[in-house]
Amino acid sequence: MNEKVIKIEVVPGGWTSKPGKASMTGTWRTFRPVVDEDKCIGCGICDMYCPEASIKIVKKIAQINYDYCKGCGVCANECPQDAISMIPEIEARGETE
Ligand code: SF4
Ligand code: SF4
Repeated sequence: MNEKVIKIEVVPGGWTSKPGKASMTGTWRTFRPVVDEDKCIGCGICDMYCPEASIKIVKKIAQINYDYCKGCGVCANECPQDAISMIPEIEARGETE
């Protein structure tokens, strides 16, 4: 059998190490993650898992950059404090259907 070993480098937290203009979200996101600052302990797990590098920990609180966030919900799913809620985008913008 002819086996090949392929080595790939995986960026911690996903595929994007830095958000760039090409990965800006636009207006199509349907759900928006919202951080409850009273529950957040600044552990950085959400930052580590976000595939869009859209989260930073500032003064021990997760801050989400909505210009790049795709609303995938991974951060909310991984948060050990249940500090992130996924809110319908239309509700977050204060719009009605
Ligand atoms: S994973 Fe949860 S508790 Fe940890 S920094 Fe993110 S929002 Fe805060
Ligand atoms: S919803 Fe997805 S893209 Fe947006 S901050 Fe959370 S993990 Fe990142």
